[in-house]
Amino acid sequence: MRPKIVFSSCLTGEAVRYDGGSAETPFTLKLLNFSEPVKVCPEVGIGFGVPREKVIVWEGGLHQPSTSLDLTQKMEELSRSFLGSLKEVDGFLLKSKSPSCGVSRTKTYKDKEGKVFKGFGRGMFARAVLEAFPYLPVEDELRLSRYHLRLHFLIRVFGSALIREEGPEVAHDIFSDALRVLSPGLEKRMRREKSGKTYRELFLRAFSRRPPLSLLLELAGKVVPQELLYPPDRLP
Ligand code: SF4
Repeated sequence: MRPKIVFSSCLTGEAVRYDGGSAETPFTLKLLNFSEPVKVCPEVGIGFGVPREKVIVWEGGLHQPSTSLDLTQKMEELSRSFLGSLKEVDGFLLKSKSPSCGVSRTKTYKDKEGKVFKGFGRGMFARAVLEAFPYLPVEDELRLSRYHLRLHFLIRVFGSALIREEGPEVAHDIFSDALRVLSPGLEKRMRREKSGKTYRELFLRAFSRRPPLSLLLELAGKVVPQELLYPPDRLP
């Protein structure tokens, strides 16, 4: 069972970052080997080379201060066409802090020169992903250094792949107890659901809530490959 995961290309070891580097971690490389990856670098996608000048997110969109280029429309178009072209995927693993891919800890500014710091937020591409797929697991490598968030992500992507490959009946045997805790109403509906597509949508909706750690541990043992599970104090 191999989940289809969209990765920020730099997390897979590709040297596409603005400074010419990559951003893989031992965990992102390992997960890559257990998934069917779809790789994307939105900044290369809108026509930039490597290396390139930094871009920033500000209140008005995406901007490159050194060249005064407004990249907002290009990034909106790239996001729309890339996300619209995706076949069924099980989740996204994106690069933290990036003005394009960041799911968390992206610096945002009040001005397009990037001089007045506004706060931490999300990159433009990541925002489009979350809008297009409100229930899919969408995380970044920094958030996944937290044990319970990592388990929750892995259970959702491998659970979603299991539903696609094995169907609702097999999945329900594994997830029914957790579903009863998360959403008794949805569990009742899912019990009788024969369509894999609908079952998967309901599964992702129910699991957008995070179960308690004890349940996460139990489910991870059933659906996540052992090689991806580490004790909380030894996360790579
Ligand atoms: S964070 Fe996103 S835009 Fe930046 S290099 Fe990585 S894949 Fe490309």
